[in-house]
Order: sequence, then structure tokens, then C-alpha cells
Amino acid sequence: YPPEEKFEYQAEVSRLMDLIVHSLYSNKEVFLRELISNASDALDKLRFLSVTEPALLKEAVDLDIRIQTDQDNGIITLTDTGIGMTREELVDCLGTIAQSGTAKFLKAVKESKESGADSNLIGQFGVGFYSAFLVSDKVVVSTKSPKSDKQYVWEGEANASSYTIREETDAEKLIPRGTRITLFLKRDDKGFAHPERVQNLVKNYSQFVSFPIYTWQEKGFTKEVEVDEDPAEGKKDEGNETKTEKKKKTKKVVEKYWEWELTNETQPIWLRNPKEVSTEEYNEFYKKTFNEYLDPLASSHFTTEGEVEFRSILFVPAMSPMGKEDIVNPKTKNIKLYVKRVFISDDFDGELFPRYLSFVKGVVDSNDLPLNVSREILQESRIVRIMRKRLVRKAFDMILGISLSENKDDYDKFWENFGKHLKLGCLEDHQNHKRIAPLLRFSSSQSEEELISLDEYIENMKPEQKDIYYIAADNVKSARNAPSLEKLLEKDFEVLFLIDPIDEVAIQNLKSYKEKNFVDISKEDLDLGDKDEEKEKEIKQEFGKTCDWIKKRLGDKVASVQISSRLSTSPCVLVSGKFGWSANMERLMKAQTM
Ligand code: ADP
Ligand code: MG
Repeated sequence: YPPEEKFEYQAEVSRLMDLIVHSLYSNKEVFLRELISNASDALDKLRFLSVTEPALLKEAVDLDIRIQTDQDNGIITLTDTGIGMTREELVDCLGTIAQSGTAKFLKAVKESKESGADSNLIGQFGVGFYSAFLVSDKVVVSTKSPKSDKQYVWEGEANASSYTIREETDAEKLIPRGTRITLFLKRDDKGFAHPERVQNLVKNYSQFVSFPIYTWQEKGFTKEVEVDEDPAEGKKDEGNETKTEKKKKTKKVVEKYWEWELTNETQPIWLRNPKEVSTEEYNEFYKKTFNEYLDPLASSHFTTEGEVEFRSILFVPAMSPMGKEDIVNPKTKNIKLYVKRVFISDDFDGELFPRYLSFVKGVVDSNDLPLNVSREILQESRIVRIMRKRLVRKAFDMILGISLSENKDDYDKFWENFGKHLKLGCLEDHQNHKRIAPLLRFSSSQSEEELISLDEYIENMKPEQKDIYYIAADNVKSARNAPSLEKLLEKDFEVLFLIDPIDEVAIQNLKSYKEKNFVDISKEDLDLGDKDEEKEKEIKQEFGKTCDWIKKRLGDKVASVQISSRLSTSPCVLVSGKFGWSANMERLMKAQTM
């Protein structure tokens, strides 16, 4: 390699850098959170890889993060002993944008153009490594991978379109393993190089990092030193002019020194006793771990022992993710899997939760799985099957808790964001119908605005009513105007309005709730339990010919024409056959095949 090589940033990085340097002025302190989170990722990666490749740990240095400040020169240095980067990795990682977080950020900024680059967005996304340029004129990254025998230096400046890479030659700057990032702060941001400020930021932003973070702090202790008495003072003492002997006196002085101070709490929150963790702590943990800015709607912290041992904290978010989420093929990274406190992966959501519950976030720490666990192992594992069952159960308890909460808004919010997921659950998880059904909500003929639960429906049933009635339609208005509703309204039977296309399929999968069948009121054989056979016979005789005549006129357009006892004011109604699709289902199927 040449002694120093120059590289151009990828276009997206240039755009991002430009934005960071010229448009983002608030929330700048997130740079520290981002750099610490990268250091922590690098340490996690090393610990994980060393399970199968112990040689990676041949340098006997502790896994930690150290932050030093030089207040006079406005310099912050952040050193980790993680996996480091090879020369190739430096080019790949710090010159291009591969990670989804940053790409998402750019998209969000584009979408909120009118408000400019919002400071909230940067808080939310962080924009990773490049946020170093929020506060720095120049950033130097010196890094040593255990896979390489050389240490390399990446150097970039705030207003440049290129960066350089060279080999570290200064013997004083060599590190055994990991990465050292040096920030040369902008004139106006030199205040960040204050030891106490850094300490506070670490406490604020990184209390849940599971590696020790040390900050370089000035300490002092007072000691007594003996000093000679001030001769001037002696003279004042006029009566004792003849006294010549010197009086000894002591004085307190403060001795200053610097040392590394442990600044964060390293015990993972899920190992603590749930009784001793406050709601605020769970909320903070959630927001920091999952980069969220709203508190969760609910959390659940539990330990299971016996057959399978694991600890977990689960959360229900207050909002579904930005942009359109794909609930059929979620790629969420919502569940972080640990084995004996070592972070393994956040790619195993699908193994630990059914996809319709993919919105649940959390950490799971198992004592039974091997550290080198892979997707294949997870899919085969009996332990994982048991874990999955427990996790799902806990998730339902948590959601049920929201529905029972005094704060009704919470469940409305939940339903608005994740109701669709539960309906999908009716299709995909027959074993849990009992748990899903009480959580469902619908509007009805007696409650068009406020959604009701199936339990509320049952409470409101008439004594002579056997079934749960529903009608599927495009919207409340067309449900309300359906002729098949007339008879039921007359009898004062409540009818569920299934407005969401997936509602009807969900209900058909449930089949019944608390031993009451779901009955579609638009089907031809609707039995309201009030058949008067004598009278029907009479009417059939009287109007049989009329029906034949109408059928003849309509020909193949209808399957049959029959006399109905279901109408009170409309002269006729179009219904689906008993075994046919309902009109709504037909619409749905059409929409899907288009
Ligand atoms: P992200 O962390 O989302 O991947 P960043 O912009 O924060 O995005 O970092 C980009 C990449 O640079 C990381 O994925 C990692 O590969 C590499 N990187 C950054 N900091 C370090 C570090 N301290 N040690 C090792 N690799 C790092
Ligand atoms: Mg990062």
C-alpha cells in the first residue's frame, strides 16, 4: 500500500456529511451515544467470535471502553478493545452506508423536508459514526483488528469530500487491539471536552451498555502540610518581641491527580430483581436499546426456571415503526437474544416469536442454549420451542394488561397500531385463539364509533339470542344500510360490523367464542329462531309463481330466487349462498389476485 491513500466518500455519505455539518445544530451530544454504541458492538462482536476462535483474544486486555478528554485543546479520545477493523473494513465501513439505520435516517429527512432536518430525527436515528462530525472538525480513527498484524489510521475532515487511510507508524500510538477514535472538536463545541460533561453524557446515554465505560477524571484529596509561621505575623505580636523560636503551623492543601473512573452500571437490567426496577428504568432501557423516543405501552420482566431457564423483558411499543411495515414478512430485529449474558443476535425474532407478534420488542437471555447457536440449531431445539411458548404467553398477558388498564387510550392506541397483527394471528395461530379472541375489537350496529370487545357483545346479547351476528362491508355506512340488517335491528340484536378486509377471515377462523358461533347475517340460511312454518308454507304457495317468474327473467345471473322472512321494509335483498363466498370475501379475493 502507498504510505497514505486518498478515498472519495460514497455519494450518500457526502450527502449525509453535508447535512450533519451544515444543518443539524441541536441534539449534538448524541455523537457520544453513537460512538459508544459502536464500541459496544465491536466488543460484542469480538466476544461472540472468540467463542469459536479463541485466538482472537490472544492480546490479554480487558473488554472495555475508555474516554479521555483534553479540555485545553478540545480533544476527546474514545478507545475500545473490541474487534477493530482491517484496512478493507475501514474502507467498507467508514466511507459507505451499508447499514439500514442511516439509510432510514436519510429517507426520514427527505420526507420531512418542509421542516428541514429535524433535530428530533437525529436524536432518533443518531446516524452512527458520522455523527462524530456534529461536533468535530477532524476525526481520526486508529484501529487494530486481531485478524491483521498492522494498525491503520482513517482520517477525515468535516468539509472534505474525501478521507485518507495510512498505516500507524508512531510507536506511541500503537494499541494491542480495538479502535481509538480521536475527535478534534469545533471551536464552538470544545465544551464537550470537559471531563464532567462527558461523564454526565455517559451516565445519561449509556447506562445500559454491558461493558465497563471508564472516563478520565480529576480527583483530589486534602492533606495537611507543615509550614513555617509567617514572620510578619510574629511581628504583630508586640509583647513577645524577644521570642525568637519559630512556631510550627499546619496548612491544608489539595493534592490533585487523575484516574480512570467506572462511569456506568454494567449489570444488565434483566438480571436484576423485577421488584427493584422502576417503570422509569424499564422505559429508559427500552428507549436506549431500541432507539425509540416514546415510552412503551407495557413491559413484562420475568424469569423462568426448571425445565428451561431464561430471563426476558418484553415491551409493547407505543407506535408501529416509521413507514409502511411489512407484517407478512417482517424483518424487525426486535428481539435481542443473549446466551449467558453474551449478545448473540437480533436476527432470530422469527424463531422466538410467531410473525404476527413481530411487533413485540425485548431481550431474551438463555442459560441453556450453546454460545455458537445458529438458526438451524434454534429451529431444531426443543428448548426453543418451550421458550417460544412461554414468550408468546407472556406477550399475551402483557397485551391483556393494556386492555384492562384504567387508561382506555392505551388500548385504543395499541389496537390502532397492532390490531391487524392480532387478526393475522386468528389465521395463523389456532392454538392461541383463546388468548387472541378477547383482545379483538369491532364496531357494531349499536356502537358505530367506539369499538367493542367480544365479551361486551356477549354481555349485550338478548336472552333468546344464541349466536354472535356479523356483517362484512366496506365501511360502517354500507353495513348500516344492508337490507339483511333490518330484521336484526327490529329484534334489537346487536350485529358486529366487519369493516377491515381481514376481519371476516379472522372471524371465520375463530368459528366461535365462548361457545357462541359467529353467524354471517348475509347468508341465505340465517335462522333467527323465530320460524313460523305454517305461515311460511302459506306465503310460499302464494308467491311461488312470482319467484319462478323472476328467476326466469334473471336466468344465470342468480342461483335461485327465494321467499325471505328476513326483511322488514326492503322489498328484496341479494344474498350469498350458504357455501359461497360472501360479497365482501369476493371483493377481497379479487383485490388479491389483481
Ligand atoms: P452501524 O453501527 O449502524 O453499523 P455506524 O455508522 O455507527 O453504523 O458504523 C459503521 C460501521 O463501522 C459499523 O457497522 C462497524 O462495522 C464499523 N465501526 C464503527 N465503529 C467501530 C469500532 N469502534 N470498532 C469496530 N468497528 C467499528
Ligand atoms: Mg453505530
